[in-house]
Amino acid sequence: MHEDVARVLISEDALRDRVAALAGEIEQAYEESLAGITVVAILTGAVVFLSDLMRHLPYRMEVGYITVSSYTGPVVTSGGAKLGVISLPELRNRDVLIVDDILDSGGTLRVVQSVLRDRGPASLRTAVLLRKPGKAPAEVAADFVGFDVEDVFVVGYGLDFDGYYRNLPYIAELKSERYGRSPDDA
Ligand code: 5GP
Ligand code: MG
Repeated sequence: MHEDVARVLISEDALRDRVAALAGEIEQAYEESLAGITVVAILTGAVVFLSDLMRHLPYRMEVGYITVSSYTGPVVTSGGAKLGVISLPELRNRDVLIVDDILDSGGTLRVVQSVLRDRGPASLRTAVLLRKPGKAPAEVAADFVGFDVEDVFVVGYGLDFDGYYRNLPYIAELKSERYGRSPDDA
């Protein structure tokens, strides 16, 4: 275990098994999508989940991404979330699946779902690896959820603290002394 980690909440094995099962749920839901689906990842947090999930999905597939950032690029702000880079294939009349790391307050997904809906997809669904239950308003729901987690700040498997820890292969809580300072500090 990494020295900054206080506790592993979801192990590498549990992530692997659940992501495979979740892909099965998604595969069933898109049974009729013969033309293929378009996956839109919210980077950077979804990058590990995306790469594991998409390799289980047998569809003809295009992949696009949106970054949600508080400080880079030309920025669109709404409801607290700031969209940065948008790199998307044509979404009109496509079956679109948003992939994100975690659904917390719902601010991020609210903005992303609204921006994508405006592009006229045939359908729009959302898959998140993690969800903190009871925090997002009902209208910002996810269709596919990997795990419900307790309301603590988690890192690993794509999720960062201050830009770090995305490469941990499990979901963990950091030691409390790591919060409030950079992981590079002594
Ligand atoms: P929301 O907009 O739903 O409040 O939060 C979604 C975004 O906030 C996530 O995509 C993620 O980037 C960040 N976030 C929310 N909760 C956590 C957490 O526990 N750990 C980390 N690393 N990021 C979080
Ligand atoms: Mg995020």
